[in-house]
Amino acid sequence: MAERYKKHVIIGNSAAGLSAIKAIRKTGDTGSIVLISAESCNAYSPVLTTYYISGQIGKSNLFFVDDSFYKLFDVHRVFGHKAIGIDSLEREVLLDNRTRITYDNLLIATGGSAKPLDCVDQNALEFVSTLRTIKDADKIKKAGEMAREMVFLGAGLVSLQSIKALLGKGIEMTVVVGSNQVLSQQMDSDSAYILQEKLESAGVNILFGRGVEKVVRNKNRACVFTSYGERLPADMVVVGKGVSPNTELVNGTGIKVNKGILVDNRMQTSLENVFAAGDVAEGENEITGQMEVIATWFNACAQGEVAGLNMAGCSVIRRGQFRENVTTILGLEITSLGLSSPEEGKHNVFHYKDRKNDIYRKFLIEDSHVVGALLLGKGNDAGVIRHCIANRIDITPWREEIAKTPLDFGKIMYGHGIN
Ligand SMILES: Cc1cc2nc3c(=O)[nH]c(=O)nc-3n(C[C@H](O)[C@H](O)[C@H](O)COP(=O)(O)OP(=O)(O)OC[C@H]3O[C@@H](n4cnc5c(N)ncnc54)[C@H](O)[C@@H]3O)c2cc1C
Repeated sequence: MAERYKKHVIIGNSAAGLSAIKAIRKTGDTGSIVLISAESCNAYSPVLTTYYISGQIGKSNLFFVDDSFYKLFDVHRVFGHKAIGIDSLEREVLLDNRTRITYDNLLIATGGSAKPLDCVDQNALEFVSTLRTIKDADKIKKAGEMAREMVFLGAGLVSLQSIKALLGKGIEMTVVVGSNQVLSQQMDSDSAYILQEKLESAGVNILFGRGVEKVVRNKNRACVFTSYGERLPADMVVVGKGVSPNTELVNGTGIKVNKGILVDNRMQTSLENVFAAGDVAEGENEITGQMEVIATWFNACAQGEVAGLNMAGCSVIRRGQFRENVTTILGLEITSLGLSSPEEGKHNVFHYKDRKNDIYRKFLIEDSHVVGALLLGKGNDAGVIRHCIANRIDITPWREEIAKTPLDFGKIMYGHGIN
């Protein structure tokens, strides 16, 4: 019974932190919950920031809970203060205003920060932005209202979603990419080419195989110097070079960190009673068996839920953890699930291509199981495929057909007696 009155402290007011809160209360746990957030506002979704930039939604729509959420779940908010350290012996979190908050169970759900560009002149900083927070979104949105030219560094999801948000505003847009394709984390070169053509026919200029040497100020604008010697003037430079897990606050605590904070499948860190979830956590990818940070909204929610249940004393493990993403860019639906590149001798690859209708399907099969899928265009069986990957469903009957035939959930589950 004593377990029920523990003090839970959660650092991070977003997908992982809020899922943990709901999970703790779902068990009937009435212990106190203290929620610490560096930002002073209620929880908002970084996923929606590009819709805000485009004007499709207003600022208030970014917030996915309001005051009533914290009241309903009886959460004590400590907002506007950054956690800067953890004293694991005393079980205390140290805040930037020198306050110490004691815990019985601690969840670190501090997410990630966009990687900054290190070759920007100080006086050009006002024309350069990453995109993660509302503050970043405000800066890009404002620039987008007046800009003539914008440069995007990197061709990952953040850059492409930002471009999508700003298309149609009369801005000349250039993307500088280190590799030779767009969305190299999610797509292979064939499918990336379909998207590249769409972007180019929408007027986006893409420069492949280049680095950025420096970004300087030129009067009231920035100028990007590429490794090919190009000089690209820009009213705003958007940096989409990936995300780093926010792990600094565990330095010196003995909590093990690789890229992210290492967690087991209960979301516990190397210290008892300290958990981590979401973009800050590095757990086992169930397909590869490798430790990996899987920085997606869905994963943050699922990991937060598992962490919360374990904090409340239930013993629950996280299953089905792998890379997955669904997005639509310029009308092209792109779903990537599990592995994106095959390993020679280990995976069979099945393709289906219909260029006329922008349909591209690729499946990676290991023995009798799907371990990866990429769907462009029609992705209406994505849920079934996810289920097959997560549950290692034997797809032998569809092995040769799977790429061209949208999978039917009924057949998978019952028609062939497979479960
Ligand atoms: C533009 C954009 C588009 C995206 N699109 C998609 C998409 O289509 N699909 C998808 O799955 N994912 C997408 N993502 C990723 C998704 O937003 C993240 O995976 C998700 O937000 C991770 O949630 P989290 O709870 O781990 O952390 P975060 O959302 O990063 O939140 C971290 C929280 O911790 C707080 N915090 C950080 N450090 C401290 C500290 N030291 N002290 C106190 N508080 C702290 C922050 O203020 C924040 O409240 C996108 C992200 C961006 C930026």
